[in-house]
Amino acid sequence: MELRSVRGTHDIFGEEIDKFNRISNIVSKNANLKNFKEIQTPIFEFSELFAKPLGEQSDVVLKEMYSFEDRNNEFLTLRPEYTTPMIRAAISNNLLNDLPLKIFGIGPMFRRERPQKGRYRQFNQINFEILGTKDFIADVELILLSNNILKELLPQSEIKLHINSLGDKKTLSDFKKNLTKYFNTHKKKLSEESVNKIYTNPLRILDSKNIEDIEISKSSPKIYEYLTAEAKKHYEDIRRSLNLLEINFEENSNLVRGLDYYCNTVFEFKSDDLGSQDTLLGGGRYDGLIKLLGGPDIPGIGWAAGIERIALLMDHEKKTNSIVHLAVTNDKFTDYFLYLQKYLSENKISYYWNYKYNLKKSFTKANLYSASYMIIIGDNEFNGKFFTIKNLITGEQKELELHQISNYLNDKSR
Ligand code: AMP
Repeated sequence: MELRSVRGTHDIFGEEIDKFNRISNIVSKNANLKNFKEIQTPIFEFSELFAKPLGEQSDVVLKEMYSFEDRNNEFLTLRPEYTTPMIRAAISNNLLNDLPLKIFGIGPMFRRERPQKGRYRQFNQINFEILGTKDFIADVELILLSNNILKELLPQSEIKLHINSLGDKKTLSDFKKNLTKYFNTHKKKLSEESVNKIYTNPLRILDSKNIEDIEISKSSPKIYEYLTAEAKKHYEDIRRSLNLLEINFEENSNLVRGLDYYCNTVFEFKSDDLGSQDTLLGGGRYDGLIKLLGGPDIPGIGWAAGIERIALLMDHEKKTNSIVHLAVTNDKFTDYFLYLQKYLSENKISYYWNYKYNLKKSFTKANLYSASYMIIIGDNEFNGKFFTIKNLITGEQKELELHQISNYLNDKSR
């Protein structure tokens, strides 16, 4: 059998893992600044958790979930998104007693989509949620937070914020009815995939990427005309605040998001440099979701960003290595060498050795790893009870006793 990873999955290493670690450090730093608490939930849940909140007719539930029957006849699903499990965790662990609850998480999600650039079957997401407030300030805060994180990670990229409002449940159901009516009269010009959604999920026709669908959607009913006075005010407050904070945005009446639980504010950050999978981050309000999952009737809002897509746009930051490479010319010096290793570990000095008693090979490796120093042990060093330290950048060479090494390296590497 050919040894390979499963289609749509990928191994993360080298430059990509460096980027992933940078992303999670910056996310955690920003989360701390804004007092969001981290939650890690299991990667699988009972299947029934997802169907209703995401929508029985959503693409995710219809065809993308990895579900299986466990040996004791329990139906389980690898989490396809993080909001629902996070709310489940907040309810299960009584975290909703002290509101608002501000939580975040980072981890893998699973969707059986057609793999392509920026789209995988196992991918990693960052998620932020605020549970327990209707205040538009929470919406603005979360948009601001995502804007800050993306700016810090991708200072060079041009990323556009799109916003829209879906109104409340009544607005949405009136709107859907009218959309169905409209698309039904234009059904001959729609793509086959969209025709199948006319009755089940007409909102998704609005964000179809098919050219004919886009054309038809241009003259479709617009949600703004259906918003209640309250929903209009909420949306206007957000637009005013974003202007005040000088965050550029585009109003996009076709922005509907894929899942059923959204209402009022929805937003996405997009980049033209990502090809067809151009959404880096998406989020919105889900005021009925917590109740639907069996919790109290409190509102919520959140967003999710794809780590792989962010990494695709990031420049690789070459690590400034202050690595010290070790070179031992003969295995008769191993005791002396171990003594050096103990000293370096105790003094928190990062070192590397290639397990070869060969000076030339050690220099080749040191070069490959861009090490800044080499500590050499040969006959002279062993007999004289000192160590030779070579600065690989300047070429300078010094003979030091063990206890002098730490000061010397700390002095020179700053
Ligand atoms: P969603 O939960 O669909 O709103 O997705 C939120 C973000 O997760 C998207 O904007 C993407 O950055 C990322 N994402 C969603 N699906 C995938 C996927 N199949 N592969 C990679 N990233 C994804």
